[in-house]
Amino acid sequence: QVSLRNVHLSFGSNEVLKGIDLDVGRGRAVSIIGPSGSGKSTILRCLTGLLTPQGGAITVSGTRVDLLRAEPERIELRKRVGFVFQQYNLFPHLTVLQNLVVAPLRVLGRDRAGAESDARRLLQRVRLEDKIHAYPGELSGGQQQRVAIARALAMHPELILFDEVTSALDPETVGEVLTVIRELVDEGMTCVLVTHEMQFAEEISDEVYFTEAGRIVEHGPARQLFRSPASDRTRAFLARAL
Ligand code: ATP
Ligand code: MG
Repeated sequence: QVSLRNVHLSFGSNEVLKGIDLDVGRGRAVSIIGPSGSGKSTILRCLTGLLTPQGGAITVSGTRVDLLRAEPERIELRKRVGFVFQQYNLFPHLTVLQNLVVAPLRVLGRDRAGAESDARRLLQRVRLEDKIHAYPGELSGGQQQRVAIARALAMHPELILFDEVTSALDPETVGEVLTVIRELVDEGMTCVLVTHEMQFAEEISDEVYFTEAGRIVEHGPARQLFRSPASDRTRAFLARAL
């Protein structure tokens, strides 16, 4: 469903991605781990069309994402790819329900009744149906992040990208967000996660990629990469991270 082939990307003279190859099959969960600044978020931003690489090819469900130049085409792509960040970026002046329906109404052109019943169903799924009329500022970090996940799902994406979605959370609320992600993976949603939660990554991922300085050092089945990494660099990183 997703593939990156020899992707190169520079910011000015700073080459940040130095030939990335990565594959995600439909219904699979892939995690990207690696040190700060190694290019993990940049890879995800390429998949949303927010960044265009200077070299290589990126395909999402048959679309060559790296070749999209016109804004309408990029908007089409963004409908298909959900993105959840560390900072939840909910609209603070809108209620939870309004946050969930704004993009389906404006971008997908859904009718209000349909969008709202969809939103209610999604809030049940993330166990926040009682917060439907609350404002983001009245919710805990973990609750806001679950709203952000529901908001991404409201667009019915083919694929969801999670970029360190638990890094800003209190330890007590990390679990409730990971549970929601685990359920999505179990239901067969295609997911790409950047995470520092190594145990979680091992549990839920089909495949794990270890990045360092803009390259994929190693990738493989989760259990294999965590239990018996082939590269000394992966081993050293895991020793520090665990
Ligand atoms: P972290 O774990 O800290 O989130 P990361 O692996 O996600 O790190 P990226 O955010 O992909 O790393 O950044 C990779 C490199 O690209 C860094 O050196 C960063 O400074 C640089 N970079 C990222 N975004 C930009 C930008 N918009 N302009 C210039 N340089 C950037
Ligand atoms: Mg990052």
